[in-house]
Amino acid sequence: MLFSLPVLAEPQHFSLAEKLIFATLAITSGYLFWRRFGVVLDKILKSKKDSNFHLFPIAKRVADFFWEVLCQAKVIRERPLPGLAHALVFWAFLAFALVTLNHCAVGLGIGFLAPDSLIGRFYFYFAAAFALACAAGIAGLFIRRFLVRPRWLGAKLSWESGFIAFLIFALMATYLAAFFVTDLSLAARALWWAHTLALLTFLPLIPHTKHLHLVLSPVTIFLSRGSFAQIPPLSGDEDFGLVAGKDLTQLVSLQAYSCVECGRCTEHCPAAATGKLLNPKEIILGVRAYLNDLGPASDQPLLGKYNSQEAVFQCTTCGACEFQCPVGIEHVPVLVGLRRGAVNTGEWDDSHGSKLFLALERGSNALGISPAERDKFIQKEALPIFDGSQQYCLWLGCMGGYDPKGRAIIADFARVMNYLGASYGVLRKEKCTGDPVRRLGNDLVFQQLAEANLETLAQNKVKKIISICPHCVRTIQEDWKEYGTPPEIEHHSEFLARFADKLPTAAPPSAPPPLAAPQANVPQANAPQGKAPQSTNPALSRPNAPEKIVFHDPCYLGRYRNVYDQPRTVARLSGELLEAPRHKERSFCCGAGGGLAFLGEETGERVSHNRAAELVATGAETIATACPFCNTMFRDALAATGAAPPQLLDIAQLAARELPSGH
Ligand code: SF4
Ligand code: SF4
Repeated sequence: MLFSLPVLAEPQHFSLAEKLIFATLAITSGYLFWRRFGVVLDKILKSKKDSNFHLFPIAKRVADFFWEVLCQAKVIRERPLPGLAHALVFWAFLAFALVTLNHCAVGLGIGFLAPDSLIGRFYFYFAAAFALACAAGIAGLFIRRFLVRPRWLGAKLSWESGFIAFLIFALMATYLAAFFVTDLSLAARALWWAHTLALLTFLPLIPHTKHLHLVLSPVTIFLSRGSFAQIPPLSGDEDFGLVAGKDLTQLVSLQAYSCVECGRCTEHCPAAATGKLLNPKEIILGVRAYLNDLGPASDQPLLGKYNSQEAVFQCTTCGACEFQCPVGIEHVPVLVGLRRGAVNTGEWDDSHGSKLFLALERGSNALGISPAERDKFIQKEALPIFDGSQQYCLWLGCMGGYDPKGRAIIADFARVMNYLGASYGVLRKEKCTGDPVRRLGNDLVFQQLAEANLETLAQNKVKKIISICPHCVRTIQEDWKEYGTPPEIEHHSEFLARFADKLPTAAPPSAPPPLAAPQANVPQANAPQGKAPQSTNPALSRPNAPEKIVFHDPCYLGRYRNVYDQPRTVARLSGELLEAPRHKERSFCCGAGGGLAFLGEETGERVSHNRAAELVATGAETIATACPFCNTMFRDALAATGAAPPQLLDIAQLAARELPSGH
């Protein structure tokens, strides 16, 4: 069967003149490639070394490389159609590596893969299948970029992209056409030269354009920091963050040159979506422009001409940009690094920021309230004090200890823990985890808070913490590692989902089962299972069942911790779960993260209003959250709607609402 199919035609003989012309063109093309690529490589290598970078353990790097680069899984998952088109082009490039080597060798009279051999026939047909797929893929991408023109690709048409698409299409078309001519024909020779010219024109364009990502992005993905939105530690007393070019590390420079300008980061950025100055793509391209103009040894400030300080401080650190980026660019460390630079050099002048820093430097909480108020709340709710005998240390956090709505969540969660018979206690003294100062770039205050808290936890012999706040969970578990070994911590959604079959339910019998079976050390519930009478707490009134509930994924629980199902399991116990258009990995921020909850008025539309409107539009009677910051942001946003808004409850409050009276 294979032998009856047409064979790839290759010119059988090249004159000396032809060989010389080919060799000259190939050397020129290679030289032009290196002339630019060598400069880029030099800038990356001459950037500051990443002090905390470890290549090992390498297994995760290999797995990520296989999944994200070779399988193109992330590109396809996040944008299925254009992602698949891109993947087809990429896979064709891989398949064409051998074809291209042989093509060039033929030009020098040393071809090694005979088209009429068994292996040759098989491989050239294999490559032909990819050539067809690649031609279709590149045509689709061309139509999208030049006819559909999604807004996040920018208003300006990129003719360079159009030309490169034409070259790739020409490479595939000339290869495929060679199956329909004979070796000795003039057409075979013309196709060979057309293919060669397309190839040798394409090569030097790679480092001169955003197609540099073809070479760099596999390396960028392989060398990523390894965990999502990870803020690297400062490398010593002389490290003030990203102040000038000399502070750019090799990873940051590599990432800046890897950007393919696809705009996915900007498309998902809550700041960009609400008319603010911040555009994560432009932040990365700003770093690249700086490196191009001034290089990695420059003392010129990074903020100013190349990136705006105002934009950098509009970031909520929601991580949507980083999550979406197909080439492994880590925006959050760059943005926090630039904030560190501005804060540590005294360039950031913001009255709200200064007030927050002072409150946390001198006091215990980000709200600047006296700790005596926390004591009063503990007494009022009769929360047990942690004495080392209980299983859990219930971490109140600034919101749970001082904010009225946060306190209500803690009180209801405590009721649920009591109902489940879980043993817990709260610390007499607890300071802010340092989340807002860490993300605003004030490492000095963050260090003070982390060290003080670690000491308190060690003194109290805490082994396991539970928290209602995903920001506290993230900061304790990841950021504190810089200063010690934090105890194990879990978010209350994980705890509640684990014990879901012990909680009363208002859901219809068809509700899906809870996520996981309870563990052996699960405390026994103090009440029978099944539907319980409605709570007598008037704040937790429930509309007629089945209640429609929409769950908002907090960024620090979802993208940061990969916890999506557990809060839904809990919410489903109370009613019918709806999904907002942007949910799970694509959830839209509430606007509070990155310390922004404590800063002044936003410019443009409020992020919380944008998100609240989307949640209200689902028609849900209740908006469920699992973060006290989201809760407080939506409380204000819903109040501003004017109309009768849905009620707003934490998942702990949903669970508490179903408890029998007396609990
Ligand atoms: S972390 Fe969120 S707010 Fe900040 S730039 Fe990225 S998408 Fe925008
Ligand atoms: S940073 Fe990543 S997501 Fe943003 S434009 Fe560049 S490649 Fe695309």
